[in-house]
Amino acid sequence: MKAIDIHAHIPRMPGIPEYGIEPGLRRMFRMNDEPDDVAKMVETYRAIDTMAVIFSVDAETETGDLPDPNDYVAETVAAHPDVLLGFASVDPRKGQAAVEELERAVTELGLKGLKLHPIHQAFFPDDPEFTPLFAKAEELGIPVLMHSGYAAAGANTPGGGGFELAYSRPIPGFDSLAARHPGLTIIMAHPAWPWIQEQIAITLHKPNVFIDLSGWAPKYIPKELMAEAGGRLRKKVLFGSDYPYISPVTWMEQFDELDIRDEARPLILHDNAAGILGL
Ligand SMILES: [Zn+2]
Repeated sequence: MKAIDIHAHIPRMPGIPEYGIEPGLRRMFRMNDEPDDVAKMVETYRAIDTMAVIFSVDAETETGDLPDPNDYVAETVAAHPDVLLGFASVDPRKGQAAVEELERAVTELGLKGLKLHPIHQAFFPDDPEFTPLFAKAEELGIPVLMHSGYAAAGANTPGGGGFELAYSRPIPGFDSLAARHPGLTIIMAHPAWPWIQEQIAITLHKPNVFIDLSGWAPKYIPKELMAEAGGRLRKKVLFGSDYPYISPVTWMEQFDELDIRDEARPLILHDNAAGILGL
């Protein structure tokens, strides 16, 4: 594999209704109405010799949407182990049940990380109420991939769909979490606009914090972040697409055209993620 895409959303499990936010996201990212199925996703990644880390998002308490079960993520990975790797998702606001589900998903289902979305799940990462969940992730030795910065979901609808961006502001939430759990690997998903400088500062300061570049076509990623990605942060930044909202094919084509140091490219595309995932 020449690359690892650390950020891919699993196609919805057949038979459950789509997420409430989905039609708006399709409009915003100018996507077709007919979503890819797993076979199409797998074909896409095989064609570019890239491994995809897939996951669901359980935000049921806040949104009422049923998540794609962790069992479904694990089954999908088991059917295509050459090209897929899976992260669990749990809803932090389900309390002790979330902690237990995370443990089950890792120890019994073999999932390799935890995906969270503070905006959709409506929680602050540094709220002590959620310490048991992060302590469990640290104990299990798995990375946590957490949405940071702006969210497309809810944009241009009344009150932004009720979603509050502050949950995903890097400082204090992510920074305090990283300070309190030095053994926990935290990946801030996406360029954390409008807080790029906070995101860079945390990642420079804390060895356990990383950034994925997903959700943005590379030519639009803020220049300040790309300069760091090719320089001081070249071992802390990971390729992610945010499939299906951004195509990994398009992402890699545009990344090739960016002006960054050649020695940083394989680190960002593959090596940094391989290190975190223990591959
Ligand atoms: Zn995403």
